[in-house]
Amino acid sequence: MTAKIIDGKAIAQALRGKVKVEVEALEKKLGRKLGLAVVLVGNNPASEVYVRNKTRASQEVGIQPRDYKREASTSEAELLGLIAQLNADDMVDGILVQLPLPDHIDATRVLNAIDPAKDVDGFHPTNAGYLATGLPAIAPGTPSGCVILAKSVHLSLSGMEAVIVGRSNIVGRPLAQLLLYENATVTIAHSRTKDLPAVCRRADLLFVAIGKPEFVRKDWIKPGATVIDVGINRIEAGGKSKIVGDVAFEEAKEVAGAITPVPGGVGPMTIACLLSNTLYAAATRGRIRPSLMHRFNSEET
Ligand code: NDP
Repeated sequence: MTAKIIDGKAIAQALRGKVKVEVEALEKKLGRKLGLAVVLVGNNPASEVYVRNKTRASQEVGIQPRDYKREASTSEAELLGLIAQLNADDMVDGILVQLPLPDHIDATRVLNAIDPAKDVDGFHPTNAGYLATGLPAIAPGTPSGCVILAKSVHLSLSGMEAVIVGRSNIVGRPLAQLLLYENATVTIAHSRTKDLPAVCRRADLLFVAIGKPEFVRKDWIKPGATVIDVGINRIEAGGKSKIVGDVAFEEAKEVAGAITPVPGGVGPMTIACLLSNTLYAAATRGRIRPSLMHRFNSEET
């Protein structure tokens, strides 16, 4: 058996297309462009690439990016001042602060200063709490993307056995909440889980987000399972550098029913969901009900 390869690029492109149409409609209703503030502190090359990609993607769907680049020496107080200014700016619908921040800045304090209504990364405790208690929330992009990818294979996740490996606040935990909305039966595994291969073998849906290259092997996967690989790991192979996931893709695809590649799986979904979150934030702040809002708490995608 060879698994269906889940084309994250194509699915992300389709989502961006839907967002673009809704952005145009919302801008007409609001009589202004939607704005996404992108805050970058310092010169981390990887962060600069991420910010460039997010800026370009937001332009493509008609959301106006506003870049706030600050020196690495910027103080925490200055950054908090900028966040307060963006919170108060009616032209800003979403605020994202690119991580990591320099060591002298408390990232949690900065992220918690963002108005939860503009928290398009979905990291604010208010959004995490809303998500956990079943209230309308802005959910982080990566786990949202994972659910959309799983739903591209299965019309309904209801009653399915889902195993998530990894319990971080940006992937594993919010993913568990989103899967509960979908009525899946959810297990979260982590570094203290006993007999991880046996736990993984229970999964109809296996999500892996641990940051360990090709860690999950073929014999950990139930035949026919859907495997969503969140990991992004750079490794050296044959004198070349390449990106691999947390799942040993070549062998896993022999047993899985469907699997995401790395790159080209979850990665493109993260940005598409960020844009969708910006649309959602603008619509809810403008008291307009966006149609993409019900992505997760209904059986429809
Ligand atoms: P974290 O380091 O925050 O969390 C890793 C999790 O994996 C922890 O819960 C940890 O368990 C668990 N873990 C680590 N080792 C093992 C092990 N041997 N067995 C079982 N569980 C283990 O990572 P993130 O969630 O931030 O990221 C995970 C991966 O996803 C990374 O490769 C990252 O690059 C990628 N990523 C990709 C994104 C995308 O857009 N595609 C976005 C975000 C992340 P414990 O809690 O017990 O320590």
